[in-house]
Amino acid sequence: MIIRKSPAEIEAMREAGRVSAKVLREVGALVKPGVTTAELDEFAETLIRLEGGIPAFKGYGGFPGSICASVNDQIVHGIPSAKVVLKEGDIISIDTGAIVDGWVGDNAWTYAVGTVSPEKKRLLEVTEKCLWAGLDAARPGNRLGDIGHAVQSVAEAAGFGVVREYVGHGIGRDMHEDPNVPNYGRKHSGIRLEPGMVLAIEPMINAGTHKTRQMPDGWLVCTRDGRPSAHFEKTVAVTEEGPVILTAEEGRRRPV
Ligand code: MG
Repeated sequence: MIIRKSPAEIEAMREAGRVSAKVLREVGALVKPGVTTAELDEFAETLIRLEGGIPAFKGYGGFPGSICASVNDQIVHGIPSAKVVLKEGDIISIDTGAIVDGWVGDNAWTYAVGTVSPEKKRLLEVTEKCLWAGLDAARPGNRLGDIGHAVQSVAEAAGFGVVREYVGHGIGRDMHEDPNVPNYGRKHSGIRLEPGMVLAIEPMINAGTHKTRQMPDGWLVCTRDGRPSAHFEKTVAVTEEGPVILTAEEGRRRPV
């Protein structure tokens, strides 16, 4: 069941979105060689709580962290660890969310650690473009498949693989609400997008095959071929005026 939000509820979701966006930007600014993903996680949890929020991921389905930290060929759901030390040339997807006043914000960004290979650089550029294309399609009059089609077109034109098994989602008082928001699809297919729907759009794009493998810890998902993967996400409201990004800080449209 899709829970549509009133304009007042969408307004109320902005605070969870603001905190989520601020934490993502500030954690991203700490990404450098020598930092562990456990350190990034600890910083994120502290900042979420300082901002008056609750980490949305911590304890969700038993997940132990306040961020998901997924490096290189890791697609999503990496558990932060003191054993994972970032090094020059890595890319790292950081996914984080906050609950404020019972509303959830969810967002992710993939950062380069120092200088990265041309392949990784292009993967980051294209996956960010996929995100903006998906967000732009989140408007009344379109259908759900238009979002997936927009993302898929950008990714496949670049020769990259679109992950199928993991998708975006509705979001509100729960982190994962209906509908599922795939990053692939046919134009004009699926349900109609209507004002009041709030979606987390999150392309997961692989440099090589779209195929994935689930790792034994039950969380981490990697690419089947070991090539790198990128992941960008924002929470967006479908409104009469078009897409409104909720995981945004005042005066900022995108993370640094
Ligand atoms: Mg999400």
